[in-house]
Amino acid sequence: MQKTVTLADGTVLPALGMGTWNMGEGDADKRRAEMASLQYGIDAGLKLVDTAEMYGSGRSESLVGEALYRERDKVFLVTKVLPSNASEEGVAKACRNSLRRLGTDWIDLYLLHWRGGVPLEETVQGFRKLKKEGLIRNWGVSNFDVEDILELENYVQPGECQVNQILYSLEHRGVEYDLLDADRYRNIVTMAYSPIGQGGALLQNKALQAVAKRHKTSTGPATAAQIALAWVLRQRNMIAIPKAGSIDHLKQNIAAQEITLNDADLAELDRAFAPPEKKVSLEMI
Ligand code: NDP
Repeated sequence: MQKTVTLADGTVLPALGMGTWNMGEGDADKRRAEMASLQYGIDAGLKLVDTAEMYGSGRSESLVGEALYRERDKVFLVTKVLPSNASEEGVAKACRNSLRRLGTDWIDLYLLHWRGGVPLEETVQGFRKLKKEGLIRNWGVSNFDVEDILELENYVQPGECQVNQILYSLEHRGVEYDLLDADRYRNIVTMAYSPIGQGGALLQNKALQAVAKRHKTSTGPATAAQIALAWVLRQRNMIAIPKAGSIDHLKQNIAAQEITLNDADLAELDRAFAPPEKKVSLEMI
């Protein structure tokens, strides 16, 4: 069954969404596979697609627009503005450019990609204006640590900032110390990026592979990637947005939702990837 997460405004979203970093940058065959993967995901009810003006200097947004324009109403589109464009005037321009590339009239959730030199209050004003104009439905932040969330609180009403998109996976657990609770307490949904370690060293970890051997899903014996994803998805108030460039990977990611990790699995993963015992500054990729 698909797990869901509810945003502060009542919007219910599947806890599993789709990332798109590095999409739209390969040859025609790769592009076709990526488009097919996104379309398959929407048909399977994944709904949430995450992109950014930064990805491939707009190429990811263009691919997402092309893949999804016929089904725009079924999609919850998330994109991000660069900190260098985060002035009031800058977000207005960047948003319109994103809308053009995405081939749509509205963005469901517009995020500040990370903090830069523009005062937060000004970015918030820019977001509010875009919301009033109907160009964005909601807004949020990305790569915000607890101190950033506390500062933001000075400028916003409860529930205004809907999401904080951050790095969270077995390899990066520092946020469990304080940030996950800080988000939860303020009704901000946490969105985990790179939840399967970008398909890198994490998937070779012996403990992760040992846990995988004890599970199976409708796609076959469980894989390390499925366990890594199931581990992130077990958190409350958490959306995960793995990127899958093929239908095969996407099917496996969808099937990861069938996995329930038991106490022994979680203890083994805790031994291999220790939970934080003190404050760790938020890491980002
Ligand atoms: P992920 O952890 O999602 O890993 C993606 C990699 O894992 C790809 O190489 C993919 O290969 C591979 N993969 C996907 N599914 C499987 C599977 N079932 N088995 C084995 N390998 C698999 O890393 P990302 O960095 O892409 O993070 C996800 C998304 O988060 C991004 O795409 C982006 O949308 C967002 N993001 C946001 C950031 C921010 O600052 N706000 C920073 C980084 C990411 P293949 O493509 O071949 O399927």
